[in-house]
This record gives sequence, C-alpha cells and structure tokens, in this order.
Amino acid sequence: MMEKMEFQAESKRLLEMMVNSIYSQKEVFLRELISNASDAIDKIYYKALTDENLVFEKDQYYIKVVPNKENRTLKLIDTGIGMTKEELENNLGIIAKSGSLAFKKENQSKDGHDIIGQFGVGFYAAFMVADVVTVETKALGSEEAYRWQSEGADGYTIDTCQKETVGTEITLQLKDNQEEESYDDYLDEYQVKTIIKKYSDFIRYPIKMDITSSRPKEDSETEFAEYTEEQIINSMVPIWRKNKSELTDEDYANFYGEKHYGFDKPLKHIHVSVDGTIRYNAILFIPEKMPFDYYSKEFEKGLELYSNGVLIMDKCADLLPDHFSFVKGMVDSEDLSLNISREILQQDRQLKLIAKNICKKIKSELKSLLKNDREKYDAFYQSFGRQLKFGVYNEFGAEKDTLKDLLMFHSSKEKKLVTLDEYISKMPEDQKFIYYATGDSIDRIDKLPQTELVADKGYEILYFTEDIDEFAIKMLMTYEEKEFKSLSSGDLGLESEEEKKKAEEETSEEEKVVFTAMKEVLSGKVKDVRASKRLKSHPVCLTSDGEVTIEMEKVLSMMPE
Ligand code: ADP
Ligand code: MG
Repeated sequence: MMEKMEFQAESKRLLEMMVNSIYSQKEVFLRELISNASDAIDKIYYKALTDENLVFEKDQYYIKVVPNKENRTLKLIDTGIGMTKEELENNLGIIAKSGSLAFKKENQSKDGHDIIGQFGVGFYAAFMVADVVTVETKALGSEEAYRWQSEGADGYTIDTCQKETVGTEITLQLKDNQEEESYDDYLDEYQVKTIIKKYSDFIRYPIKMDITSSRPKEDSETEFAEYTEEQIINSMVPIWRKNKSELTDEDYANFYGEKHYGFDKPLKHIHVSVDGTIRYNAILFIPEKMPFDYYSKEFEKGLELYSNGVLIMDKCADLLPDHFSFVKGMVDSEDLSLNISREILQQDRQLKLIAKNICKKIKSELKSLLKNDREKYDAFYQSFGRQLKFGVYNEFGAEKDTLKDLLMFHSSKEKKLVTLDEYISKMPEDQKFIYYATGDSIDRIDKLPQTELVADKGYEILYFTEDIDEFAIKMLMTYEEKEFKSLSSGDLGLESEEEKKKAEEETSEEEKVVFTAMKEVLSGKVKDVRASKRLKSHPVCLTSDGEVTIEMEKVLSMMPE
C-alpha cells in the first residue's frame, strides 16, 4: 500500500533563506511590522462593526515607534487586537501562516479589504536587522499576557508576562554593526522617521514617535535646550482617498512638493478614482518644466505604486508609456496581486489594465487642455512636445491616432504653434497637400528658396525645426487624408500636368546642353539637373524625389552606425 508522506521543511534554513532573499532592502522590516500593527487595529475596528459590546473610538488607537540608542533596541507598540497564546504559536510560530488572511476570509462580508497582511512572512523580516525579537502581547478580551521570544533560527519560547493594556509590543535587539553593514540607522530618530514616511505615510492610524529637537530657551535667544515631544509621523489620510471636491489646487501642489515629484509646480493634476472591475485611485501630475535630467540616462520614468496605502514600488515603469514618461504621480490599488516580498507583482494583468486606463486618461486630459487652456497647453508643449512626437513615431494604430491630434508645429502664417487640425481647417480649397519645411531654425527655413513659391500661393507652411519632426510625420503619412509634402521634394504639386509638360517643352536645346554638362561635373552628387518654375528671387534650389528628404539624410548620417 502506498503511504502518503508530508514534506518536512528545515525551518531553520527556510527562515534564513527567506529573510535574506526575498527583500531587496532591509529597511522594509519596518514597513512590515507597522503594517501588522495597523492590521491589528483594523481587526478591532471590524470586530466593533458587529459586536455591540465593543466601541471603536478612533483616537484611542495608535502605533508608537521608539528607538533607543543605549540599549540598541527598536520598539514597536500598538494598541491593536493582540494575540492569545494559541495565536502566537500559530501566527508567529508557523512560517507562512497568516492570521490576517484567515481574518479577512472569515469577515469577507464585512469588507475587511483594508487589511494588508496575507502571506504570513512579513513579521520575520525583523530578523534581517535583529538578533533577538521579543513580542509581548495581550489579546482583546483576555486576562493573560504572553511573551514570545526568538533568536531566529533556533525556534522560540513563550512565557506569561505582565502587560496591562491590550495590544502588542515588539522589541528588536538590533544586530551589531558589521564591516559592510551598519544598523545604526534604525536607532536614529531622523532615519526611522524617514523610513516610516517613505513606506507607511498613509497608514490610517497615527504612527507616533518622541522627537527631540533643540530650541532657544524661553526668554533667551542664545541659550538652547532640548525638547522632546510626541509627534505623529504619518499623514494618515492619503490625499487620493479624499473627495476631489474637498481638495484645492494648492493641496495637490503641496502633495507634489512633499513627494518630491519635482522642484517646479505641477502644470496640471489629474485625480482618478475608479471603482470598476479593478479598483484604484491615482493622482497624476503634468510637470511645468522638463526635469534637468530628462534626456539623460539617469532619468527613470514611472509612477509610485501603493497597495492599500503601503508603498510597494518607487517607480513602476510599466504604468507609463514612453511618450508620457514625463508624468509624475502615484497609483493605489487594493486589487493588485503582490508576490511574497510585496515588491514585485505576481502577475501583471491588473497592472496592464490600470496602465491602459491611465494612458487614456492622460490623453483625454491633454486634449481638454489643448481645447480649453491653450496658453497652458503651449507651455506643456514647449517642455514635452518632443515626447509626443516620439510617440507618434513609435506607436501604432489607435495610439498613434490620438497622439497626432496633440501635435503642434510652428506656422508660417500664424507665427505660432498650430495643430494639424487647425492647419487643415484653414486650407484654401485648391490646396492639395500639407506643406512643411525642415531646417535648423524658423529663420533658416524662411530663407529657403522653396518657401517663397508656396507662401505666394497663399498656402501655410509648417516649420519642422526638430530632428524628430519629419520622421514622425513620415510615420503618419497623411492627416485627414491630406498628404504631407516637404518643400524640398522635387514636385510640390503646385502645377497641373499640363503646366509641367509645357515647362519641359520650353526647356531649350541650349539649356539642355548646360544641364548635361552640370550633371557631369556633379556626377555622383546629384541625380538630375532641371529647369524650375518655382524659383523667384533665388537662382537654384536643391530638391529630392525619394522617401528620404535631404534633412532626414542629415539626421541619419549623424546617427551612430
Ligand atoms: P501577514 O501580515 O502577511 O499575515 P506576518 O508574518 O507579517 O504575515 O504576520 C503573521 C501573523 O501574525 C499576522 O497575520 C497576524 O495574525 C499576527 N501578527 C503579527 N503582528 C501582529 C501584531 N502586531 N498584532 C497582532 N497580530 C499580529
Ligand atoms: Mg504582515
């Protein structure tokens, strides 16, 4: 008979492996412990929803973090639900057992979706920085308090202890500094505060610390004294969960500054709350100015990604297409499937969906900016128009189609930036093409011999002064069925077939001899020499007949092989 066996795991090794391999940064242990504390408070909150004898008074609940340099300890105190002896054994004694996940499942009907825990491993992150972890806890409704203690690999002990109040107090005995690794940051008020701000700013309960600062003594301007006061470190209510109608432009601008999205002011903010198949909140910003490193290798595109108010990723690049790489901001969703380290995503279906929605939203907001606030759109375009052109060049299908409506070029007639739509709408009836001229600057283009004739016809010319311009337009080929025509192409389409024939006939024998001679002299450099009808005050001009214009050739020849 076949015998069914269970796998045995070497828990000592597993713990070591896990602790040291799943997290890329040690500091996240603090995020994990604070998340647990927040879950523990949440559990009281959810219990109170159905338990008449339990009243949840929000201001009684908090998390407190206490670094102590002398003892080399870091304490985390919470007023959450606590743990019974059995819960200590189950939740902290069994790796990958999550009391929080179980709680969520039991309470599904009561929307416990704010609870963060699910994998049952976060707690052990403490062992990345601590030699000894002590947990003293008293469960809600219990008379006894217990102390759980562990040095990591060797298992744990449980004992009764003295604790008056319900909740949990975790003490980390920090590791001694090693040559390559110092743990002193976790004892330093300022550093601890910074880490809390970074990952746990939007935990819904106050995270407190005693902060010591030096201030002038009363009645004295020269003598200083140290004051210690308890401060709340986190902002608690994330701005993205607030009601849009309660928020002012200034609130958004402050958030932009606090988050260090840029040193400038945001040109526009976009606040999205979606409650559909996938739920998420996002606050996006279009910056006013191009970041100084925008076109350098150092620049990384991406949005901050939060899961339930806890920071998961600093710069999630997958959330933004390259042509919107200038957008700053954050996304928070409770529907993401995270992997065990809560760093990378398990599967990216939800993320793709969010990215798609966000991209659509940015496009529609830019369109409305173009329509309703031209001055602002011009400012935006000065900074990031180039990126949109890259988008038109790189993207396909519908994406290219929407982006093309956002393009603007300098117009010979309007002497300002115009959209392709504006160009088309002002075309005289007999004009067949959208004319553009390429050059280093508007001045240079104005001096081109070709410009004169088209302008004389009363046609508008778009000035292409950036190297990407013509490449992008070539990818479009047409706009509203009108073809683009470079002023440097051989046939400008200004004359009818008859007119062309006539010009050919009018070329005298004498001229033909001269052209043949010129062609010989310039052999290999030009394809043909012809008489032209288009010149007025200039004696000659260069044109090209192929797909690649003279200006494009210039750009291409400058590119590395
Ligand atoms: P997770 O949070 O993913 O469930 P953890 O390893 O972080 O996994 O925690 C394991 C379990 O231990 C939690 O699910 C919870 O039941 C319990 N726990 C951890 N910290 C606390 C705390 N401060 N108060 C109450 N219970 C806690
Ligand atoms: Mg946890």
